[in-house]
This record gives sequence, C-alpha cells and structure tokens, in this order.
Amino acid sequence: MVEALFILFPFALELRFMRLELDDIIEGGLKQELTCAASEFTGLIEMGLEAEVGFVAPIQFQLRLQRLGQLVEVDGQLSSRVTLACGRCLQACEEDLSASFAFTFTPYVAEEQVAEDEDVEVELDTDELGLVYYQDECLDLMQPLQDQLVMALPISPICSDQCKGLCPECGCNLNIDKCQCEKKVFNNRFSALAGLEIESSEK
Ligand SMILES: [Zn+2]
Ligand SMILES: [Zn+2]
Repeated sequence: MVEALFILFPFALELRFMRLELDDIIEGGLKQELTCAASEFTGLIEMGLEAEVGFVAPIQFQLRLQRLGQLVEVDGQLSSRVTLACGRCLQACEEDLSASFAFTFTPYVAEEQVAEDEDVEVELDTDELGLVYYQDECLDLMQPLQDQLVMALPISPICSDQCKGLCPECGCNLNIDKCQCEKKVFNNRFSALAGLEIESSEK
C-alpha cells in the first residue's frame, strides 16, 4: 500500500517544508516531520545512486531545530526501507534504513569579507564541521538532508552474514548451488600464499 502511494503521487510531496525562514524557528525549538520521495533528491540521480538503491518506502525525517542567535542547530533522524544488491552474491536484499544526525546552519560569509579579516588563516571545511550555510534568513534543508541520506546508505550491503557469495571461477551463486571449482580455487590461493612466504623469507 505504501509502495503504491509512493508511485502514484511522487509529486504530491511538495518541497514546501524543505525551506524555512529563520524566524520560523520559535523559541524552545521547532519540530518538523518530513515525508519525502527519493525522486525529490536529485543528487541521488546525479551520483548514479538511483540505479543501485531502490527506495521501497518514503523517506521520513524527524527534525528538531533550535536557534542559537544566528546559528540553527538541527538534530534529526531518518528512516526508510531500501533494496540494494548484496556485495557478495549480487542478489537484491531489502533492509531498513535508519540514522541519526546533527548539523548546524550558519550564516553565509562572503569570501571578500573573510579575506579582509586577516586573522582568519584557517579555511573552515564546512563539511567536516557539520556546518551548512544559509543566506537571506532562509534555511534550505534539501542539500543537508540529501547528504545525510547518502551517508546513511550502507557502503557494503550483504544479504546475510552467512552469504557465501559467488564462485570467483564460474560465477555460480554458492548460496543456491555448489560448483566443482571450489576446491581448485582454495588450492590456488594457498599456493599463492605459500609463494609469498618463501619470497619474503629470502630477503
Ligand atoms: Zn548475498
Ligand atoms: Zn565455480
């Protein structure tokens, strides 16, 4: 049912909550819940991730924004469900996506302004510090949320810890089938290792 809705109304989920005014962050903080379709994050397509990752549920964000003068601290959680190819056997596997994150919005400082200030010797790496720039009192959540989503994706998904993978010789899925090359591969590896040991002991 969720999946059907996701396909039928990909554009019903508008970006209206993706942008906030600084003054929207009321004293005591602002809680935001966002439900997004993966198609809203154009960066996923640019990174070629849409071919590798299938979102089988909308992406839910729960955010808490807190204003500290000109800074806005954001704490959040994201969740969804994705299908990915197992890194060992290449079969599609479905798993829950869930992550917590935090970042801080800070007013954008024009480069000339930084250059004028001679005390600023170290160029701040905004990514490393978890800082996100905003301009004209407008907080755009799109890019930082997309970054968090990409970071939450498993780097090397596996269908199960017991996954035996594919035979490197014949490509047979060893979870389903057995092949005759298994022993040969092991022997080859062993002899390669033995060769290495002899080589190093000669030195
Ligand atoms: Zn697998
Ligand atoms: Zn084989």
